[in-house]
Amino acid sequence: MTCDLTNPIFTDEAKAIAHMEADRWPDGVTCPHCGSFNTHKMGGQTQAGMFLCNDCREKFTVRTGTVFERSHIPLHKWLLATHLMSASKKGMSALQLSRMLGITYKSAWFMTHRIREAMTPSSVGPIGGENKVVESDETYIGGKTKNRAYAKKEPKKHAVMTLVDRDGDSHSFHIANVKAKTLREKIETTVSRKSVLMTDELASYGKIGGEFVNHLTVNHGAKEYARLGGFVHINTAECRFSLMKRAVFGTHHSISEAHLSRYLAEWDFKFNTRKMTDGERAALALKGAEGKRLTYRQPH
Ligand SMILES: [Zn+2]
Repeated sequence: MTCDLTNPIFTDEAKAIAHMEADRWPDGVTCPHCGSFNTHKMGGQTQAGMFLCNDCREKFTVRTGTVFERSHIPLHKWLLATHLMSASKKGMSALQLSRMLGITYKSAWFMTHRIREAMTPSSVGPIGGENKVVESDETYIGGKTKNRAYAKKEPKKHAVMTLVDRDGDSHSFHIANVKAKTLREKIETTVSRKSVLMTDELASYGKIGGEFVNHLTVNHGAKEYARLGGFVHINTAECRFSLMKRAVFGTHHSISEAHLSRYLAEWDFKFNTRKMTDGERAALALKGAEGKRLTYRQPH
């Protein structure tokens, strides 16, 4: 499946609904409230796309229990937005999406965050394993004021940590600080202890590093960027950070603390699906739309 924007599911609401239904319920419509297959489609114009469960008597649509629930934006626009965001290497701003979809900025903003939520894995790790190398690195995002003389105060810096399996997946986190306890918490739950851990020489890694098969460190100060014939490096993680800063933060300019982790999830999602086609990636994002409800206020 490729990302063909001329596909009618991106313009025709009935086709969009049919596409989502087939995608979500390949073995027949299932009630999202009780799991029953005993359902029927309701008739009438006003109840288009509505099902009734014969067991629990609840009504539902293909949006029920997904990040698209209770949104007044037509489903074909959701599908298009999901495809555009999945296909865009550098990320897509809400402003750009609002122009492309002909919706308000506010609606587009909510859509982008819900789609990021769909891209967020429901469980993380473990990455790495036997004979695998996992790199860990930290960076700071934000905190630069271009014109300090007029700025009231310098924006807050946010610490971000990324853990990346050289041959596999990556998971990034917005962290409060780079203290040993904080880093341990993330490494413990994300990385298999059977891996070789590569980090910089930050003292915070000392203790937890000892719990891995091997812990190798890169000493940046000594300009020792790659030891052992190029094996000891954290270039994968560093490269991800520099791309992230250029692409994601170049597109979105300022990102608030509350939403930073969602941008990181989108960034990881694209890295972890880097071998897929745009269409396959979008299909995976759509799958992830299910089983997640967002608690923030609706745009309408
Ligand atoms: Zn039911």
